[in-house]
Amino acid sequence: MIEENMRDVEQRIRQACARAGRAPEEVTLIAVSKTKPVEMLMEAYAAGARDFGENKVQELLDKIPQMPQDIRWHMIGHLQRNKVKYIIDKVALIHSVDSLRLAEEISKEAQKHNLVVDILVEVNVAGEESKFGTTPEEAANLVLSIAALPGIRVRGLMTIAPFVEHAEENRKFFKNLKQLSVDILQKNNDNIHVGDVLSMGMTGDYEVAVEEGATYVRVGTGIFGERSYKKES
Ligand SMILES: *Cc1c(COP(=O)(O)O)cnc(C)c1O
Repeated sequence: MIEENMRDVEQRIRQACARAGRAPEEVTLIAVSKTKPVEMLMEAYAAGARDFGENKVQELLDKIPQMPQDIRWHMIGHLQRNKVKYIIDKVALIHSVDSLRLAEEISKEAQKHNLVVDILVEVNVAGEESKFGTTPEEAANLVLSIAALPGIRVRGLMTIAPFVEHAEENRKFFKNLKQLSVDILQKNNDNIHVGDVLSMGMTGDYEVAVEEGATYVRVGTGIFGERSYKKES
């Protein structure tokens, strides 16, 4: 089932790319494996998945040593400053940086490990109270402040769009994130490196996100099925 799901999601991504005149290589599918057992992750791995997303530090630390080493792990959940040190040298990309204080902690730990850590700045595009992320208005200043820190590289922006019935309802938010990225890259006339990565789109709306410029889509349910939050048997 997981392999079939992956093929289906990949095909839909290719079709969305074709509709938008984009090359499919521009989009990376992240298999969001939170709450799922490693046997299921291994099935996805066997079907070709190499980018996995988790939202909890402890779960990441449990799963990483049980899985092949060529996996790129993505931290997509809210990250507390006191936990940065546990994952700093284990993840390929931290998607959920939403404050200068968190970025400073990442910078500090990165320097300790002699690393340059790739991060995305999370933007709460819809202004939902229940969500983390900086406001669109503050995003540019935050990105440029973080980009000036040593040991850290801002690769782009991430957003979690609202949970909606029809994916089309989120198109405007994906457009906004893309525009924000373009604006920030234009503002950045110092030589600070900021990338153009856009992590946006989940099971319910990734095709729309790809049409609007997503370079990472984060798909959980669409690959692994519903999450039960009870113990899986
Ligand atoms: C759980 C999660 C996803 C995947 O959600 P699905 O709707 O199951 O695809 C994507 N992004 C983040 C940040 C998540 O926490």
